[in-house]
Amino acid sequence: MKVAVFSTKPYDQVSFEQANGPHGHDFTFLEARLTPSTVSLAHEAEAEAVCVFINDEVNRKVLEKLAKLGIRLVALRCAGFNNVDLAAAKELGITVVRVPAYSPYAVAEHAVGLILMLNRRLYRAYNRVRDDNFALNGLLGFDLHGKTVGIVGTGKIGQCFAQIMKGFGCRLLAYDVYPNQACIDLGVSYVDLPDLFAQSDVISLHCPLLPATYHLINDETIQHMKPGVMLINTSRGALMDTKAVIEGIKSGQIGYLGTDVYEEEEDLFFEDLSGTIIQDDTFQLLQSFSNVVITAHQAFFTQEALGNIADTTLSNISTFAKGEPCPNEVK
Ligand code: NAD
Repeated sequence: MKVAVFSTKPYDQVSFEQANGPHGHDFTFLEARLTPSTVSLAHEAEAEAVCVFINDEVNRKVLEKLAKLGIRLVALRCAGFNNVDLAAAKELGITVVRVPAYSPYAVAEHAVGLILMLNRRLYRAYNRVRDDNFALNGLLGFDLHGKTVGIVGTGKIGQCFAQIMKGFGCRLLAYDVYPNQACIDLGVSYVDLPDLFAQSDVISLHCPLLPATYHLINDETIQHMKPGVMLINTSRGALMDTKAVIEGIKSGQIGYLGTDVYEEEEDLFFEDLSGTIIQDDTFQLLQSFSNVVITAHQAFFTQEALGNIADTTLSNISTFAKGEPCPNEVK
C-alpha cells in the first residue's frame, strides 16, 4: 500500500525500511505532524493509508479530510489511541489499527530509571563529579527496600513494573478496574485508589488516558497522598493536572516528580527546540524544580521496541490490504 507516515524521525524510517522486506509497502516519510493543515501531504503522496504517532491529531476534522481523499486506514504506530476520534472514524468507514504491545519492559524499566534518578539525585551527582565536586551534601536518598509502591494500572507495563519493584524488596499495592491475576500471584495487594494514595511512598501511573482517568492526579487526590510522596508518570500527561502538581511540589506534599509525559507535550516533545524560547510557562516552571526529572516521551525508545513497532504496524497494514480482519483493530 502507499502509506504517508506522519511525524517521522530518522529512526522510524530505518526501522520501517528494515521491516518492509516481506510487505513491500510504499512509504512517504513526512516530518510534519498530522493536523487539519497537513492532511494535504497525504494527498500529495497519493497515500491509501496514513501512519501516525502519539501527538498526531486524528480528530473529526482530519478524519473527514482523509475520507475525502479516499483513505480508509489509520495505522497508529503506538499503543495509546486517545488522540483518535474513534466514533468519527467509524462513521466515515475508516479502520484504525494500533500496536497494542511492543515492549512493556522498555516503559517499565524507564519508570524505574526515573525512580533511581530522583531518589539518589543521579542527575546532580553526575554533574558534580564532572565539576570535580565530590561532596555528598544534598544527595541523600532512601532505601527502596521495604517502601510501599502504588501502581495505578496493572496491564502489561504495570505488571512488568511490579516484577521489577518486587526485586527491590518493595511492598506492592495496586489499583486497576480489572485486577491482574499474575500481579496477585506476585504478591501485589489490590486496594481502592484512596488507600493506594494514602499508603504509597512511590506512586507510578500505568493506566491509559480515558475520561475516567483524566486528571486522576489533582488538587484533591494530592492532598490524600503521603507528604513527600514520589510520583512517576510514564503513561500520559493529562493523567495529572500539571498546575495542581506544581502546587503540590511547592507545598512539599509531592517530594519528587519523575515524568516522561506532559499534558501539552505535542508543542514540545520530539523536537530540538534548544535554539528557541519556550513559550509554555507551566512547563518551564515545572522543570525549574530541583526535585523534578522530565524526559521527553522516551520510555518506549529501545531498539527492541522500535523493531516490534515496525513489524506490527507493517503487518497491520498488510492484513488490511488483503481485506482480512486485523486483530489489532481499535473498535
Ligand atoms: P494495558 O492496556 O496493558 O494496561 C492498562 C491497564 O490500565 C489495564 O489493566 C486496565 O484495566 C487499566 N485501567 C483502565 N482504566 C483504568 C482506571 N480507570 N484506573 C486504573 N486502571 C485502569 O496498557 P499498557 O501497555 O500497560 O500501557 C499502559 C499505558 O502506558 C498506555 O495506555 C499508554 O498511555 C502508556 N504508554 C506510554 C509509553 C511511553 O513511551 N511513555 C509507551 C507505551 C505506553
